[in-house]
Amino acid sequence: MQGIVFDIKRFAIHDGPGTRTTIFLKGCPLSCWWCHNPESISPEIEAFVSEEKVGAEVFCNTKNVGTLMTVYEVMEQIKKEQIFMNESGGGLTLSGGEPLLQFEFALELLKQCKELDIHTTLDTSGFTSQHKLKEMAPFVDLFLYDVKLFDSNIHKEYCGVANEIIKSNLEFLIESNHRVIVRIPIIPTINFENEEELNILKYLSSIRKYNFKEVHLLPYHNIGKSKYARFQKEDRLKELPELTKTELKSLAEKYKEAGFKVIVH
Ligand code: SF4
Repeated sequence: MQGIVFDIKRFAIHDGPGTRTTIFLKGCPLSCWWCHNPESISPEIEAFVSEEKVGAEVFCNTKNVGTLMTVYEVMEQIKKEQIFMNESGGGLTLSGGEPLLQFEFALELLKQCKELDIHTTLDTSGFTSQHKLKEMAPFVDLFLYDVKLFDSNIHKEYCGVANEIIKSNLEFLIESNHRVIVRIPIIPTINFENEEELNILKYLSSIRKYNFKEVHLLPYHNIGKSKYARFQKEDRLKELPELTKTELKSLAEKYKEAGFKVIVH
């Protein structure tokens, strides 16, 4: 079985507990304005031209985003790091794009990791059928689940899809006792210091349970900006300033008051 992988990050420390190998699968059904991996959205392998300056000369190279890999090849990469994973309580994280878009491939990777007793984390937008999520959930130890906006129309405007499925899948996971950490990208003017900020907090507080009591706040940053030009994608938040950790202090307090453990990345 083959899938399209667009990156492999080793020794990752922000994608779940311990030291992890994060496999980024290509393709995402969303198109968030603030996406810092715009090259991950298309499900196809894409070619792009990179320019390299050496002195006064500019050299152009054509490179691919995305590599076709078999489950066996990916597992070989994961197994290389298994000793560090075991020592640190880490494991595999599947990310993207949206890993559920390559459902069969992702499921097989998760199953093989569980056979080897490797901890598994799924970093997901939650935009998938509940049927697929149900099939995959027994092989996932931890869900890193994105909640971007509360209002479905606003979600559609900024992420390209409505969010009813995302909310009902989140509620399903929590109700069926799976371990969930919600990650919220905090974007000035879109879901920060406005009604959306309040509505997200209210919503998450209403579904908090023993297996969902941690949220991660991800302040908007410009790290992916140069990629928009490099991959010839439209950057719709060009003028938006970055947020700092300090600016999220009062929001983090509100989540703490609501009973959550909060991490600001
Ligand atoms: S869900 Fe994630 S990968 Fe997909 S477009 Fe949004 S930010 Fe990018």
